[in-house]
Amino acid sequence: MPKFCEACKSVLTKDTSSNYVVMICHRCSKNYDGDPEDSLIISNFNPTSDIDTSMVLALAPHDRVNKIEKMECSCGRKYMTQVVIDSTTSYTCDNCDVILRGDQKK
Ligand SMILES: [Zn+2]
Ligand SMILES: [Zn+2]
Repeated sequence: MPKFCEACKSVLTKDTSSNYVVMICHRCSKNYDGDPEDSLIISNFNPTSDIDTSMVLALAPHDRVNKIEKMECSCGRKYMTQVVIDSTTSYTCDNCDVILRGDQKK
């Protein structure tokens, strides 16, 4: 991450008021994105409460831990990924963003 403004060479100030680290130049109000590592260090992100269900479902097809079920998705895929969240079973597709609740299983 740049420590000095590329435009005016002023020292950049780290701004973490959002969830992202941004380096801001107060002289010309240019800002620079922080490195991901910096975000991790200052982050007060709580994995158990901040990841919402939809996020888990969106990532589920890419997580090998999840079980693949033989199911036909509306997009033509012949399998879907089974995800259990709070004892509710859902099925997601890795090809489209369809999410089925367990009780909708055909
Ligand atoms: Zn500047
Ligand atoms: Zn699909």
